[in-house]
Amino acid sequence: MQEDHSTPPYHMPKPCQHCDNPPCVSVCPVDATFKRQDGIVLIDNERCIGCRFCVAACPYSARMVHWQEPKYAAEDEGKVYDIELNVPQKKGTISKCLFSADRLRKDELPYCVSACPNGVFYFGDQNEDAVTNGTTKETVRLSKLLRDNAGYRLMPELGTEPRVYYLPPKNRIFDFPEKSILDDDHHA
Ligand code: SF4
Ligand code: SF4
Repeated sequence: MQEDHSTPPYHMPKPCQHCDNPPCVSVCPVDATFKRQDGIVLIDNERCIGCRFCVAACPYSARMVHWQEPKYAAEDEGKVYDIELNVPQKKGTISKCLFSADRLRKDELPYCVSACPNGVFYFGDQNEDAVTNGTTKETVRLSKLLRDNAGYRLMPELGTEPRVYYLPPKNRIFDFPEKSILDDDHHA
């Protein structure tokens, strides 16, 4: 992302927001997408009919369609379908970030949270007000983290109650141009 041509770009991962009030769930005509008790929004590819209503309903563009035969179709053939991994994948159905639902059931952090070498992701339980950084294993109060860093959510005004919070970028190195754009603005 880049807010302005005079500011440095930064990365902003945008996974499924695992909304508390998910429009993708309410539009699915066959209940193939649903919210698990722990709040994780899952997809049952065996039930999905590929209507793509959920793709249109998601305001965060978090869903993808398997237009092609899945890459690992041959290797996955014969495997029992795993709803927490959406494997084997099925052409014509839907996919998205599942917050590593299989690991959460085992009280483990999602793959991305554990793997990020810079510890930029925190994951936890909002009801317990505790989140953990997967790299340093530091556990902090979610409310304090958000308050101290001006945390925000994407499009909360839609009433979707997204469960992903963002902390604005900081300590960025600004590469100021020789000639300030302020001068341009001044002479405009
Ligand atoms: S981000 Fe989109 S796909 Fe994910 S729960 Fe919300 S509406 Fe559904
Ligand atoms: S594409 Fe599948 S998951 Fe999405 S709304 Fe249709 S049936 Fe439900």
